[in-house]
Parts: sequence; C-alpha cells; structure tokens
Amino acid sequence: MLIDNHGRKINYLRLAVTDRCNLRCNYCMPSEGIDFVKNDRLLTIPELIQTSRVLVSQGIDKIRITGGEPFVRKDLMILLRELSQMDGLDEISVTTNATLIGPHIDELKELGIKNVNVSLDSINRETFERITRRKQFDTVHNNLIRLITEGFNVRINFIVLDGQNEQDIIPILELMKHYNVSVRFLEEMPFNGGSKEFNQIKWNYKAILKHIASQYPDYKKIESPKTSTSINYKIDGHKGTFGVIPSFSRTFCGSCNRLRITATGDVITCLYGKPKANLRDIIRKEKNDENIKDTILKVIGNRAKTGFEAQNEHTNTVFHNSMTSIGG
Ligand code: SAM
Ligand code: SF4
Repeated sequence: MLIDNHGRKINYLRLAVTDRCNLRCNYCMPSEGIDFVKNDRLLTIPELIQTSRVLVSQGIDKIRITGGEPFVRKDLMILLRELSQMDGLDEISVTTNATLIGPHIDELKELGIKNVNVSLDSINRETFERITRRKQFDTVHNNLIRLITEGFNVRINFIVLDGQNEQDIIPILELMKHYNVSVRFLEEMPFNGGSKEFNQIKWNYKAILKHIASQYPDYKKIESPKTSTSINYKIDGHKGTFGVIPSFSRTFCGSCNRLRITATGDVITCLYGKPKANLRDIIRKEKNDENIKDTILKVIGNRAKTGFEAQNEHTNTVFHNSMTSIGG
C-alpha cells in the first residue's frame, strides 16, 4: 500500500499517454507555437505497461488514462488491452475530448472500460468552436450521446470560463436532464501554456453553485466518496447528477489519493508542484522494477500537504506549463 508522509493512501494513478492533441482549447494551450515533445521522449507502450504493473503491485488500483488527447495515440488500445488484464487493477477510466473515440467504443465495452470523462465546455456550436479552435462539435456530440446510450458511466467535464461559456451552465443541465450522466463544473486552473496569466477566478465553485441555484433553488447535496474531488448534487426530475470541482480553490487536498505520471515519465505528486522524478530516464537506464518502485516510494514519502504549499515550489504564480503535458 502506498501511504504518503501525511497519512494519505495513494491508490489512484493518472497516466498521460501523449502531450499531443487535435483540439486547441484556449484554457489549455495556445493556438500555435506549442513545443510538443519528440516521439522518442514519450513513454513507449511497454514502458507504460511496466510502470503501471509496478505501481499496481504497490497498491494503485485505479488508473485514469489522459493526455493530451489519448486517442491521438495510435497504439493506445494495445495499452488498454494489457491494463484490462492486469491483476489488482480494479478500475480503468479514460478522459477524452470525444473526437476520436467513436471507432473504439465497441472494444472499450468488450474490455470492460466503462468510465469515460468527456470534456465538453459548451453545447453551442459557435462557442464550442471558439473555445476549442476546431470544428468538431457534431462528432463530439454524437460520440457523447452514443457513449451515454450504450451504457458507459459518463461524466462531462465543463470548465467554467469567464466571458466564454457561463451562458451554457443552465442549458447543459437542461439538455442532460433525461440522461444518466454527471455534469461536473470545474474551476479554471492557470495551466494553459502561458496563454493567460491569472491569480484569481470569477467562476469559483461558490459562484457556480449560486448561478445554478438561481434556476434550480432546490438542488440537494448527495453523498460522494471520501476521495472525490467533486462535490455532488441532484436536481429533482433530472436523471443524472451534477458536481462542482474546486480545482483552483483546492478544498480537497486533505483527501488527495492521486499520483500523476506525464507522457514523458515525469512523476507529479501535486498538480500545482514541480515534477519530482523522471521514470523514463530510470527505465531506460536500467530496466528493473526495483528502481521504479524505489523512486515512487521516495516521492510519495515527500509530498506537499496542499496545493498551496506545492505552489511555493515555483518562484512565482505564473505557470508556463500546459494541462496537455500534465494530463489534468
Ligand atoms: N484531451 C482530453 C480531454 O480534454 O478530456 C484529456 C486531457 S485534458 C488536459 C484533461 C482535463 O483537463 C480536461 O477535462 C480539460 O478540460 C482539463 N483542463 C485542461 N486545461 C485546464 C485548465 N486550465 N483548467 C482546468 N481544467 C483544465
Ligand atoms: Fe486537447 Fe484536452 Fe487540452 Fe482541449 S483540454 S486542448 S482536448 S488536451
């Protein structure tokens, strides 16, 4: 079992498989001039499998595949097939922009991978295209509905962006009313590849909830797992639920059970901190599992207590990294 220096059990790995993406969401990365890493710096499929296997042997029982856009990676399904057979791994989930998942939906189902988070920040075509800077609205919408109707456990991630998509908060709840999905409203975080600097946000979780209450004053809080980052609610007559994720306010650090590994093998123990080690270099120097295990134990034994503490590892509050390299 992996226990950090503050007594928190770490059982959840967020594994990024690429830093590349076919969208250019303006809160995540600049429109151009992005320095994607060279292919040989990305973890290979055998390296991703080895890393996962060692971490699962140490107590990770849940892996979320993220990126960049995971389905941009042509060999992704090879990894997912291997993970679906891994003893001790209870849950595999994927975070995706849902542009490229269509041809893989049947196989995901066969593999038992049913938890899919879809990022969708607008239900209006123009707003969607303005935010993502690409024309993929229909594909995303169709794939989303297909995932829901085929019985996947779908959660929609909606980042609330000042001046861009707040007008869609109520309509997306209305649109999803008859579907068994969870719509999660996230606070914007300052990881956008340097395209915008900010120290505060207008749409924090309290402002989001107040806005929702103006339309649905009787929404009720529901029970959430202890390690959940979302605070979840139910609206009468809605089949699904909604949640808010205080990713900027960081009220959930006390129960954080996560470890992140980027597509280049960086080990991140807090989104707001700096990478603590690089597994690719370790694996490529000496292939043995012991070195991976020792590195993980060392970094987990030295975690910041909160995201605010981790942020002090940076000399200022302007982050130049992009969520596409961290994986969200
Ligand atoms: N491409 C996939 C997608 O968009 O779902 C997976 C990678 S994306 C980096 C993972 C999650 O991070 C997405 O839900 C995305 O909306 C979120 N994200 C990206 N940049 C963010 C930011 N600056 N603040 C908050 N969330 C962000
Ligand atoms: Fe791509 Fe996801 Fe970032 Fe959007 S949020 S640019 S889909 S990695």
